[in-house]
Amino acid sequence: MDKQQEYVLRAIEERDIRFIRLWFTDVLGVLKSVAIAPAELEGAFAEGIGFDGSSIEGLSRVYESDMLARPDPATFQVLPWRGEENGVARMFCDVLTPTGEPARSDPRNVLKRALSKAGDAGFTFYTHPEIEFYLFESVSSPDQPLVPIDRGGYFDHVARGTAHDFRRDAITTLESMGISVEFSHHEAGPGQNEIDLRYADALSTADNIQTFRTVVKEVALQQGVLATFMPKPLVDAPGSGMHTHMSLFEGDRNAFYDPSGEYQLSATGRAFIAGLLHHAGEITAVCNQYVNSYKRLWGGGEAPSYVCWGHNNRSALVRVPMYKPDKGGSARVEYRALDSAANPYLAFAVLLNAGLKGITEGYELPEGAGDDVWAMSRAERKALGIQALPNSLRQAVELMEGSELVAETLGEDSFEFFLRNKRSEWEDYRNQVTAFELQRFIPSL
Ligand code: GLU
Ligand code: MG
Ligand code: MG
Repeated sequence: MDKQQEYVLRAIEERDIRFIRLWFTDVLGVLKSVAIAPAELEGAFAEGIGFDGSSIEGLSRVYESDMLARPDPATFQVLPWRGEENGVARMFCDVLTPTGEPARSDPRNVLKRALSKAGDAGFTFYTHPEIEFYLFESVSSPDQPLVPIDRGGYFDHVARGTAHDFRRDAITTLESMGISVEFSHHEAGPGQNEIDLRYADALSTADNIQTFRTVVKEVALQQGVLATFMPKPLVDAPGSGMHTHMSLFEGDRNAFYDPSGEYQLSATGRAFIAGLLHHAGEITAVCNQYVNSYKRLWGGGEAPSYVCWGHNNRSALVRVPMYKPDKGGSARVEYRALDSAANPYLAFAVLLNAGLKGITEGYELPEGAGDDVWAMSRAERKALGIQALPNSLRQAVELMEGSELVAETLGEDSFEFFLRNKRSEWEDYRNQVTAFELQRFIPSL
């Protein structure tokens, strides 16, 4: 047993932990959990705990359904909302095949493979997400209308508002689990909030996002409200994005920083953006995975619809944020398409590989967009070579189908599963006769 594993066993005894939840993620980004007793833990560290992988979306094929979950001791945390006595702790797991190999379809493994490829090129990948979500009055069925918990807007204080208490409780809980929060505020929509996590290596960030979603749902339950990460829950208000800031480090040095570059961005940073733009269409199904995601991307409210980059241009897909000149280490690029319902492991993996491809292939970065691209005419965008992001899940899936980059990143099984699942989501959606159609057509047709 290594030192970290020993530390976990000691902590479990000292802190009166009775259950250990083993967490892992399915291909769609849904968190899965199996609880074990402390006595099982040594075995779990050594060999993993067996479970039926065929019941988990996308993890294994039916004929090889036995899988193992092996906890990563570095991710040990006590769940604060379960109280001090008879406590509950969690660890994220790596999923293994019955022979003990990492399962290629495990999203955590997909990201680890991408990170190790970046490592071979000398890079560590850091990310920092701005996570937006809505708070509604709680409902007993999804058919009930959604009522936001307040009418606040961007940065509003909302005196004595529920949102205020909500953010305080959520942030305190996150921090007690070792997740640092940089920033939080009311967002533009009624009942919409944003919490930004401090930057960390991408694997920790993806784990942290999974924990974040659980914490937000948990605090919402405690406060009797409904929290949702659905990309576009309201017709007339902005959607919930998960803009993600990214940087590559070579050792201690931020590889995106060059004081003499335009916006102090290095050639590596420029090539990384070029890679993101070049592959933007084919990675969109992963970054925006639900039929509803496209209502956000094409619904205004500062979500990007066109493939271009800019400096402080909030209509651009990729933005190079301003930072203080003495803070070269904070040079970064912000990808604005990602939404709050994406699988963070898969999304970070495709974003990283798209950016790396830009670096290894030496893609040329097109001219930045200085103007509001939403306000341009189709002809103006065409003249500047600015393409549109996919406008539906169907279009995004078609682009993904032809993508070598996404197939290689996800691995064959996840790639096929993901496409199958999304084609069927599109078919189910396309077959619906909606309230919109009934209201519009029944009176006149
Ligand atoms: N809610 C917007 C989106 O869907 C982002 C607003 C902002 O700039 O933070 O992307
Ligand atoms: Mg925001
Ligand atoms: Mg942003």
